[in-house]
Order: sequence, then structure tokens, then C-alpha cells
Amino acid sequence: MATLKATVTIAGGGLAGLSLAAGLRLRGVPVKVHEAGSYPRHRVCGEFISGAAPATLEALGIADAFADALPRRSLIWLSEGKLVHCDDLPEPALGISRYRLDARLRERVTELGGEVIEHSRQVREPLEGLVWTAGRIPAKSRWIGLKCHFRDLAMKADLEMHLGSNGYAGLAGVEDGRVNVCGLFKVDRALRGSGSELLLSYLEQGGNDVLAKRLRGAVVDEDSFAAVAGFSLGRQPELPGLCVLGDAESMIPPFTGNGMSMAFQAAELALEPLEEWSKGFLDWDDCRAAIRSALHRRFRRRLNAAQALHPVLMYGSGRHLVKSLGRARLLPFRPLLSLVR
Ligand SMILES: Cc1cc2nc3c(=O)[nH]c(=O)nc-3n(C[C@H](O)[C@H](O)[C@H](O)COP(=O)(O)OP(=O)(O)OC[C@H]3O[C@@H](n4cnc5c(N)ncnc54)[C@H](O)[C@@H]3O)c2cc1C
Repeated sequence: MATLKATVTIAGGGLAGLSLAAGLRLRGVPVKVHEAGSYPRHRVCGEFISGAAPATLEALGIADAFADALPRRSLIWLSEGKLVHCDDLPEPALGISRYRLDARLRERVTELGGEVIEHSRQVREPLEGLVWTAGRIPAKSRWIGLKCHFRDLAMKADLEMHLGSNGYAGLAGVEDGRVNVCGLFKVDRALRGSGSELLLSYLEQGGNDVLAKRLRGAVVDEDSFAAVAGFSLGRQPELPGLCVLGDAESMIPPFTGNGMSMAFQAAELALEPLEEWSKGFLDWDDCRAAIRSALHRRFRRRLNAAQALHPVLMYGSGRHLVKSLGRARLLPFRPLLSLVR
């Protein structure tokens, strides 16, 4: 006789929530996902997925969603237009828009028999059986994230990373000949403009006017523009008793291109404890504690390293160091990359 299983309720249908739901359905666990928004939807994200192992995507039952993602290998780093470093990634990254990816994962959850309820905003409170995957916790901060797709833009490498005096922006190809341009900048309320013009203003302000000019010569998709502000990087404030995954637990600085992979890895780590709870073999507090300590073990080192490197990229003296090391061909790119994986 089949055992009666308890339903796992997931608040937040982004990458962590949807991949968790798919992985749990593969194991026969009933799931209900509440998503505040709807699909498809453009999101602020570099859309460059680096560090997601095929085995993780398989364990979550979502590998097919990446079948046509673009393999991204070559990269260049520039500082205010000047080349600092060029390299190849040891393992190819994947380029796919969030517009496409989130919608595909939502489909996958439904296909596997999970329930996804759109326009359903949940309250952040600790409840048995509730997993909070609703993304970054609102906080006062100095960062703004901006993104927009462009077409007819010739790329110099699969990933272009442009450092500026006010932040950085990544360019990565996604589907349909689009290039996603996504930046993290220090907020400047004096900068005006809406949509892609605001993104271009931030690039120009940071000394990336050559890039801004290149983008002005390309075709912009204004509907793809998205912006986000009011978030802090690193570990997010905790709510005692709440089971948390993904950006809601900790937000790795975006230059790593690793946040999405972390969302998948976190979901994978949570599968077993949640399945055990659902079958009645583990009580909720033990399940939560098992997930929490697995996340800490897996992510502590890379979060600490990324948090330490973030100011190096964001402040003048750090960028100067990066430029000097780059010119002397002494930038330890691969060792640094392995620290944030
Ligand atoms: C500027 C920038 C660039 C980035 N670039 C990259 C990159 O190139 N590569 C990479 O790997 N990562 C990147 N990231 C990080 C990556 O986007 C995140 O790590 C990833 O989206 C985390 O997934 P998540 O599911 O935890 O959160 P999200 O994807 O944010 O999903 C959370 C979901 O919860 C929903 N929600 C919110 N509140 C509620 C509520 N109360 N009830 C129900 N639902 C709710 C939201 O609508 C959303 O759909 C970047 C981030 C930023 C800010």
C-alpha cells in the first residue's frame, strides 16, 4: 500500500522553488508552488549559468530545459573599455533567458503533476511544510540591478564583463540572437532615463561609454528591460523557524555568475530531507536543520570568497589592482574562479 505523503508548500516560483518542486515530484512528493507573479517574465539576471553540474539538473528532473541553451566558454574582462583578461572557462557555462527558462521549469513542474499557482503572494512566516524560495529579502542598500536584451550586437567573446567606476555589467548571448546586458551599479539618484536609457546612463557614468555607444548601435528590446533595487548581498536576514532556500537564504554577488547554479544546488540538497519529512520519517524541525546545515557546508566558502572579492571590483583601488595584474598577465583568474564555485 502506498504511504500517504504530506504536501510540501513552496513560496516563490523562481529557479530554487520550481527546481525543488520538479525534483520532489520526481520522487513522488506532492508539491504546491505559490508564485507572486506570472510566466513568462523578464527578470534582472545575467542569464549566464556557470557551475551547474549536469548531475544536479538530472536529479531535479530539469535537464531537458537546457537542451538548447547556448554553451558559453570564452570570456573577456575589460575595465572602462580596456582589456584586462581573456580566458576560457574550464567548463562551458549556459546561456538562456530567464523569460524562457522560468516558463519551461513551470511547465515541467506541471508535467510532473505539481501544482503552480500564479499571482499568489505568500506571507513570510514559519509554518510546517513551507519552504521559502521567494528570492532576496528587501533591504536598504546602495545597489541597483538593470538588464535589457539587444539584437544585432557583435560579441567579442561568449561573455564580456565590463568593469566601471560605478559597478559592472556582463554581456552574454542567449537564444534567438539576443544578447543580454545586465549590470550591478551603485545607485545614483541623479541619473535619469527609463528602460534601456537608464542602463546606458549607468554605463556611461562608469566610464563605459564605448560600450554604451556600441549598444546604441544595436536593436534594443525595451519589453525585456527589468530593474531591481533594495537588496543586500550575502546572507539574508533569518526568520527563526523558517525553511529557506536560494537567494532568500543567501545572495552571492552577481559577478560570480553562480547564483542560479546555487539555487539548483540548494534545491538538490533539500530533496532528501523534504522527502523524508513528507513520508513522516523526519520531523519538521530536524528536516529544516538538515537542510540548513547542508547549505552552510556547501556554500560557506564560496559566499565568503565572493563577498571578499566584491569590493575589489566595486572600488577604485581594487579595480586598479585588477588592471595592473591583468596588464602583467598575473591575474589568477582560474584559482579565483574555483574559490567561488
Ligand atoms: C544584477 C544581477 C545579475 C545576476 N546575474 C546572474 C548570472 O549571470 N548568473 C547567475 O547564475 N546568477 C545571476 N544572478 C543571481 C540569480 O538571478 C539568482 O541567484 C537566482 O535568480 C536565485 O533564484 P531564486 O529562485 O532564489 O530567486 P528568484 O529567481 O528571485 O525567484 C524568487 C521568486 O519568488 C517570487 N516571490 C517573491 N515574493 C513572493 C511571495 N511573497 N510569495 C510568493 N512568491 C514570491 C518572485 O516573484 C520570484 O519569481 C544575478 C543577480 C542580479 C541581481
